[in-house]
Amino acid sequence: MHPAIRVSEIFGPTIQGEGVLIGLPTVFIRTGGCDYRCSWCDSLHAVDNQYRNEWLPMPIDAVWQTVHALSGGRPVMVSLSGGNPAIQPFGPLIERGHREGYRFALETQGSVVRKWFADLDVLILSPKPPSSEMTTSWAAFEACLEAAQEKPQIVLKLVVFDESDYAYAKEVAARYPHLPIYLQPGNHTPPRPGSEDTSVDLDGIMMRMEWLVERVTSDRWFEARVLPQLHVLLWGNKRAV
Ligand code: SF4
Repeated sequence: MHPAIRVSEIFGPTIQGEGVLIGLPTVFIRTGGCDYRCSWCDSLHAVDNQYRNEWLPMPIDAVWQTVHALSGGRPVMVSLSGGNPAIQPFGPLIERGHREGYRFALETQGSVVRKWFADLDVLILSPKPPSSEMTTSWAAFEACLEAAQEKPQIVLKLVVFDESDYAYAKEVAARYPHLPIYLQPGNHTPPRPGSEDTSVDLDGIMMRMEWLVERVTSDRWFEARVLPQLHVLLWGNKRAV
């Protein structure tokens, strides 16, 4: 009997809205619980203990049946998201999905290491910059890379709000020059959990996007890729899209 996965929501298929898999049809498993509490977290309903009673411990079978039903039984990319999905016991689910041709991408800040990282297809490491008010443990981050053993495709994704975040992103890129890096302007008007209001300051986001493009190109930082959050452009702060 495998341990249950604490699930906040499972939804899709929709498109992946950010990073290396942007635009790809995806089913999302968003887990509940996070060891971080970023100042601008856009998924507080999957982080704040206040919503803990909404995070259902689901057996692997039930999670898989839900993913299977949403995809109509056709193999699709499955995004393991959160919260911090690394906290959850995803190994058996990945094994099961792979047998049926599904692929798995995990996005995590790199603070919790798991052996099953090596079984992923894509590992997106997203260390949090100074504006998050979190502190990166580089030892834990390194352990995540070691656990992955270069088996999945590994990429970096950095949210950038301001100059100090940009400097942090450059530091991360200098530490790991072999890893592709994706930069995205932060959403400074994240959703309030439980609110029906999906509005977002798109003008502000696009201004930051322009600033980031200008910053990267004037620095001749030609390895960085700059992308907006496509789902935010399309649907604002709407949940489960
Ligand atoms: S790591 Fe991600 S989910 Fe956790 S608090 Fe930060 S932004 Fe939110």
